[in-house]
Amino acid sequence: MSKSDRASSNSKMKFDTQLAHLGRRPTVKGGHAVNVPVVHASTILFDSVEQMKEATQNRSDPNWIHYGRGGTQTHIALQESVAELEGAHAALCVPSGLAAVVVSILSQVQAGDHLLVADSVYAPTRGFCEGFLKKFGVETDYYNPLDIDDLRSKFRTETRVVYTEAPGSLTFEMQDIPAISEVAHTHGAKVILDNTWATPMYFKSFAHGVDISVHAGTKYIVGHSDAMLGLVLTSDETTAAVQRQADLLGYACGPDDIYLALRGLRTLSVRLERHQKNALALCNWLSQRREVARLFYPALPEDPGHELWKRDFLGASGLFGVELHPVSDDAVGAFLNSLKLFGMGYSWGGYESLAIPTKPSDYRTATQWDGHGPTLRLHAGLEDADDLIQDLEQAFAQLRAAS
Ligand SMILES: *Cc1c(COP(=O)(O)O)cnc(C)c1O
Repeated sequence: MSKSDRASSNSKMKFDTQLAHLGRRPTVKGGHAVNVPVVHASTILFDSVEQMKEATQNRSDPNWIHYGRGGTQTHIALQESVAELEGAHAALCVPSGLAAVVVSILSQVQAGDHLLVADSVYAPTRGFCEGFLKKFGVETDYYNPLDIDDLRSKFRTETRVVYTEAPGSLTFEMQDIPAISEVAHTHGAKVILDNTWATPMYFKSFAHGVDISVHAGTKYIVGHSDAMLGLVLTSDETTAAVQRQADLLGYACGPDDIYLALRGLRTLSVRLERHQKNALALCNWLSQRREVARLFYPALPEDPGHELWKRDFLGASGLFGVELHPVSDDAVGAFLNSLKLFGMGYSWGGYESLAIPTKPSDYRTATQWDGHGPTLRLHAGLEDADDLIQDLEQAFAQLRAAS
């Protein structure tokens, strides 16, 4: 018996065996923690051959655990919560918002199929269609997000998917999701919606005809700019195909990131209320500025999408667009460089305010961008709105000085 084995002589196992087996089923008395445990796993152990067989057969069912790649209790806690919040049948965690876009589309198409994508779509979604799907014989056409007749005219017998996003990335067009769903379903196509902006709180996609709802959990669900995550929410009818597709692609998410998303989710409602309040305050102030030509935010009564938004959505988040009156690139640069509270960087949905320059005309092919001046995308964070306005005010002074 080695010295270390003797040191733990109250067990029949030798030390090296103890190292491998002790503490895996701790004896616990008393209560339990508020939060679900972060369960790290590759191998999942089964109690019997029968259980192993059953779990393996049910691998595409989101509530069965069979191997770490398919997630653990931690993942299931998030998936169940998000599905319930949006009224979905099931939800699936994937490593990023873009992965959620990818798996949702791939679950519905094969070579020879066709999909219709809103011209205002998040640019990397377009990138996936052009740079990936095309290579495998799936063709994409883009439709005017505001024109249902344009959509209708572009259907083919091979059209399997109508891809929507409301409001659109950068330009915030509101799409009529129930009307689009009706047209799509008449043609035997499924509707996928990128619901990142509204979150499961402000748009209940399945009650409006959507078949698959995708989220960049990276944004408001994680909510603190510290993890990448995607979620794919499915109806009863689309669940199996999405789960199977994700399994084939080999996607897996680390439980620590899932934990951050679960933690973020707990405060989604109080954060979104503030994001919305601040965005409205900034928009109202910006609308009075002579440098500003247009705002793109459906919660504003003067926004062209306001009526649709009011009919279908339960709130607005903190992301919106601004078009300035024509001014030099240097002046826009001076504006952005002088901002102190608004950070400059991609992504959004954290507690902090952000500002980036945008170029909508670079990302559309079915419609023409009608803007004349430079455009920006702002994210209203959780700061005090007065401080944010003061920051914008001093930045406008820099813009004018550089004009
Ligand atoms: C950010 C974003 C995505 C992609 O999410 P990632 O987690 O960054 O991959 C998808 N859709 C929209 C609308 C987004 O803003």
